[in-house]
Amino acid sequence: MTILGCIADDFTGATDLAGRLYNSGLSVSLRIGTPEGNPHSTTTQAVEIIALKCRSIAPNQAIQQALHALKWLQDTGAERFFWKYCSTFDSTDKGNIGVVSCALMDALGAEQTIYCPTFPENGRTVFMGHLFVHHQLLSDSPMKHHPITPMTNSNLQQVLQPQLAHGQTGLVSLPEIHQGEEVICQKLIDLQANGKNHVIVDGVSHSDLQTIAKVCWHMPLMTGGSVIAVPLSQTYQKQGILPTTNVAKKQIPTLGTGKMVLSGSCSAMKQTQVMEYTKTSVSYQIDPIQLAKNGVQDIKHWLSSQDIDADKIIYATADAQAVAHAQSVLGHAAAELIETAMGTLARYALDLGIRQFVIAGGETAGAVTKALDIKQMSISEEISHGVPWTFCHSGDTPIAIALKSGNFGTTHFFNRSFEVLNDILQQR
Ligand code: ADP
Repeated sequence: MTILGCIADDFTGATDLAGRLYNSGLSVSLRIGTPEGNPHSTTTQAVEIIALKCRSIAPNQAIQQALHALKWLQDTGAERFFWKYCSTFDSTDKGNIGVVSCALMDALGAEQTIYCPTFPENGRTVFMGHLFVHHQLLSDSPMKHHPITPMTNSNLQQVLQPQLAHGQTGLVSLPEIHQGEEVICQKLIDLQANGKNHVIVDGVSHSDLQTIAKVCWHMPLMTGGSVIAVPLSQTYQKQGILPTTNVAKKQIPTLGTGKMVLSGSCSAMKQTQVMEYTKTSVSYQIDPIQLAKNGVQDIKHWLSSQDIDADKIIYATADAQAVAHAQSVLGHAAAELIETAMGTLARYALDLGIRQFVIAGGETAGAVTKALDIKQMSISEEISHGVPWTFCHSGDTPIAIALKSGNFGTTHFFNRSFEVLNDILQQR
């Protein structure tokens, strides 16, 4: 029986969430898109996560997708729900964080929800409603240059308010959080009485998150980054709502040794990781303007001429100046063009016999999993916090795939990925 139903706005975020809950000892199933048909026709787990790709689509489509996912999750029996988005609050004035929250609250009859992007180990903290990325305000961080959702305001109440179809934002500040559960509870009640039902909660540490989870666990809908979901599920466990049983032993498929990395992320960390990996691997850098002119043929040709077992990477990752140049020539089509190419190349790699994939970039991962027609993923060990290896099928072909959002992991992430997978495969 499913207890907690989660909806994630992108695929890397969904695997991050799945990895964390798996590590908490919970049975977790991750579905790519809302499954067709009734959940009763399939085995469901205590935690069901539906990964959508709705971060930057039209708000009405995001609402439609989220409500469809919610309905499926409700049909599993779930009564608690979690709306997961990026810890850097990736969104625009049009949405989709706030618009989806409003739709889910309406559907659930939820009177109030919280927004908790705090992610201490990745340096995302919230103070007085302002989001920080390590030592910088969000709006001073490299996120201000993001190709799709440039974050130029760090005040989350101001970011969220225009996204709300109805209701108002409120804040529970860090000093209030530090005064403990009773004060927070009262603050939430006061905010609610003043029509402030979309509440940003400050938080800088795991202990803050634990306090927040203890106060808010009864809300039918919680929203935030992946990290708050861990103390939240632990609170459900303490309340006896979620079982504390361990996950079933997973099946590890036989995979060949062919591997590749596809990186469409342009985050600052990703540029460092790609540059590091290219020192020890063969690499192909996609130039979006050339791609628009010539298509993927040259890249396919390059790929087919590489040793299948060799460390290899195809990347569009570039610095802010290069991204701005591509966008000035191609407009917003640049992003879509690259995503489509990444999907096509992943399929082609599969045809060449490659079975081990690391995909960097949330949108990129969405495009690749769609192209590979992956429907459900079984979660395995983490490469680094928030990035688990997963086993799944593309059609009938078993593959291993790790989906990584741009900013995760350390400099040697890609080398580390394949070392971890090797260790997992040895366990067979
Ligand atoms: P992240 O997780 O770092 O945000 P995403 O894949 O979600 O990464 O977003 C990066 C977006 O930028 C994708 O849509 C990708 O296609 C696009 N992109 C990647 N490289 C370039 C480039 N060189 N020029 C323009 N856009 C790019």
